[in-house]
Amino acid sequence: MDARAELLHWYRKNARDLPWRKTQDPWAILVSEVLLQQTRVAQALPYYRRILARFPTPEALAQAPLSELFALWQGAGYYRRAQHLHRAAQRIAERGFPREFEGLCALPGVGLYTAGAVASIAFGERVPAVDGNVRRVLARVHALENPKESELWKRAAAWMPEEDPGTWNQALMELGARVCTPKAPRCTECPLAEVCRGREAPERYPRPRSRKSQEWRLFALVAKGPKGYLLVRRTAGPWSGLYTPPLGEDPGTLLAEHGLSRAQVLGEVRHALSHRRIRAQVLLARLAEGGTPPDSVPLSAFARKLLRFAEQAAAEPKTGEAFLPVAFSPADAGSDGVEPP
Ligand code: SF4
Repeated sequence: MDARAELLHWYRKNARDLPWRKTQDPWAILVSEVLLQQTRVAQALPYYRRILARFPTPEALAQAPLSELFALWQGAGYYRRAQHLHRAAQRIAERGFPREFEGLCALPGVGLYTAGAVASIAFGERVPAVDGNVRRVLARVHALENPKESELWKRAAAWMPEEDPGTWNQALMELGARVCTPKAPRCTECPLAEVCRGREAPERYPRPRSRKSQEWRLFALVAKGPKGYLLVRRTAGPWSGLYTPPLGEDPGTLLAEHGLSRAQVLGEVRHALSHRRIRAQVLLARLAEGGTPPDSVPLSAFARKLLRFAEQAAAEPKTGEAFLPVAFSPADAGSDGVEPP
């Protein structure tokens, strides 16, 4: 058996039983791929079921407001994916589902990988789908330390069998997820071991991509009123379309913008985004009236973390709490001048 046949044989015996592998419906496959862009399989499963139960077709989602999708998406993170999916559904409802790789690439939020996955799995187009798992398998099989994306796509295309490209792509992904893992790959069980040039030192391939990690230092104003919290809708940045407590670099300005003059400094909340770390000083203030109940609007995971932190900290007041007057200098907080989200 050649290596490709070995891999397909391994896949048939070992593939996880996942609902998106039992369908050729391009909409269901697109939803699964969008979810899996940043979410682990086990976490994505309930979202996949919930979203498809409510929006079984792109037309159903196109007719619904984005807030309804956001409500189902809560907790999955990376909400921009939901916005893109909504726009893609509207495009598909208007013009029909693109049946080829190029047309799929033109849908909002659909990159080369997602287009390759949908084109090959739903429509049987002979086109690769190189995600992080496939990238690692190919780099190791060919012993490539710093492969360019274009090189990997060429190699992936050259290696594809004539028949059933969707199953082949999924077999490579599954191997990367289950056997050719980033750490401690199980080469002795690998169906590609015979042809793998990187097998002697797999962890050398590929070298980790350098990630520019920036740190955002900012202030979060958690202002509580009788009906809920002061929450603002973000119109740009990583939480676009979602609500957070007001955020800013200068605490004095932040308070003044919301008609407040004093706040209690509760402490720091840290939060990681895909390429950034956030360090937020939480300021607690009181609103004389109003406020928004947090469960009435779509909140980002970061916002939920801030509110939880403020509730817990307020319930356990420490001695020596600091109160912040408007004239506080942002330099005191060590702001690094990075733009807040
Ligand atoms: S032999 Fe090892 S390094 Fe090579 S593809 Fe298989 S698991 Fe990965």
